Amino acid sequence: MKQKRFFLSEAELPTQWYNIQADMVNKPMPLLNPATRQPIKPEDLYPLFAEELSRQELNQTDRWIDIPEKVREMYTYYRSTPLVRAYGLEKAIGTPAHIYFKNESVSPVGSHKLNSALAQAYYCKQEGVTNVTTETGAGQWGTALAYAARLFGLEAAVFQVKISYEQKPYRRSIMQVFGAQVIPSPSMTTRAGKDILTRDPNHQGSLGTAISEAVELAQMTPNCKYTLGSVLSHVSLHQTVIGLEAEKQMEMAGEYPDMVIACFGGGSNFGGISFPFMRHKILEGKKTRFIAAEPASCPKLTKGKFEYDFGDETGYTPLLPMFTLGHKFRPANIHAGGLRYHGAGVIVSQLLKDGLMEAVDINQLESFKAGCLFAKAEGIIPAPESCHAIAATIREAVKCKEAGESKVILFNLSGHGLVDMTSYDQYLAGNLVNYSLSDEEIARNLTE
Ligand SMILES: *Cc1c(COP(=O)(O)O)cnc(C)c1O
Repeated sequence: MKQKRFFLSEAELPTQWYNIQADMVNKPMPLLNPATRQPIKPEDLYPLFAEELSRQELNQTDRWIDIPEKVREMYTYYRSTPLVRAYGLEKAIGTPAHIYFKNESVSPVGSHKLNSALAQAYYCKQEGVTNVTTETGAGQWGTALAYAARLFGLEAAVFQVKISYEQKPYRRSIMQVFGAQVIPSPSMTTRAGKDILTRDPNHQGSLGTAISEAVELAQMTPNCKYTLGSVLSHVSLHQTVIGLEAEKQMEMAGEYPDMVIACFGGGSNFGGISFPFMRHKILEGKKTRFIAAEPASCPKLTKGKFEYDFGDETGYTPLLPMFTLGHKFRPANIHAGGLRYHGAGVIVSQLLKDGLMEAVDINQLESFKAGCLFAKAEGIIPAPESCHAIAATIREAVKCKEAGESKVILFNLSGHGLVDMTSYDQYLAGNLVNYSLSDEEIARNLTE
């Protein structure tokens, strides 16, 4: 019988994360203090983030970073995640390509986000922090942080984008079951929230606003740190556990990927699966292609501009050198909540600029169609975000079919969609439309 799934034993799990910054020929440009335009030092980030995370954020020299033993212990609750050969999907497409996926949906909270939440909660606890804050859109990051905070004995306050708080109640319930306080954003508990509500009492919330609120609360509260589930370099560092496992598992399968594909919000699951393979491209000249799949309604990689911009709407964060649609950009209300962010992480932005990776944009009808095909073929309902990676994979597999080539494609299944069934309902009922942006709209947000 052909082997379908590949696992590592606990003894074979990675003991270090991979820091691609050490191997990049062109390092990411520095983060800047918006007031002085001087490069940020780790100490400048201490008021906001745990100190070790601040150091990891700016570490451009150490290639390998030890995973603390306590974090490795929590990883064993669900890792290794399976590497799966998608025989069912290959057959459904009729492609000679060999398709593999790394199944991060098996984590206790249903997505890859826990890989970084555990690390962040651990370092906060180590440093005597008692409270953590964050923002969440669809709720994936909030649930991961709520669970990790519980495990390490921290209190979590999560600002959830108001429209998701109201329309997607189940992730809110999950966060509350884990003991987190969940606040719909914009709220009256922060100055940033009050300002926005005064101008627009019906504001439905956005990730940018929720970030501003969480950052402000962290700055105003003693022993409280802010955490972020994407975009930042230390987050993709923690996520490299995905690609490091996949590297060993692909070896067990006797193959090496010609393409590595992941969906793209801020870049953490993409970086997580890609960077360990990309090191062989940088150091040994391997020809693997790396493809980030972003939504057509929020196309920072394919249509954004590389420039210094804020990570949040209010302008509390350092200036980040990144591909961006402008920090005032308000993405359409598509169902892949985790992909609705205006910018890309600084590492990925530099890699894209240097031609080490590619990006494609996918509209929401193509992505749900791909997700439904995958669900029928493999029995797993993917998160709406992950559907973008599946759609990009199918595009490549169809090209292989037309060319009669059996290329090896590896994609990351970043999460399952079992708490997102309202989105599938709307897709099946024919209520979803595609959003794409005109060049004028994109230019307008960038110059604001
Ligand atoms: C948050 C999320 C994403 C997008 O975030 P990245 O940092 O780009 O990985 C993708 N998939 C799922 C399931 C998510 O929860």
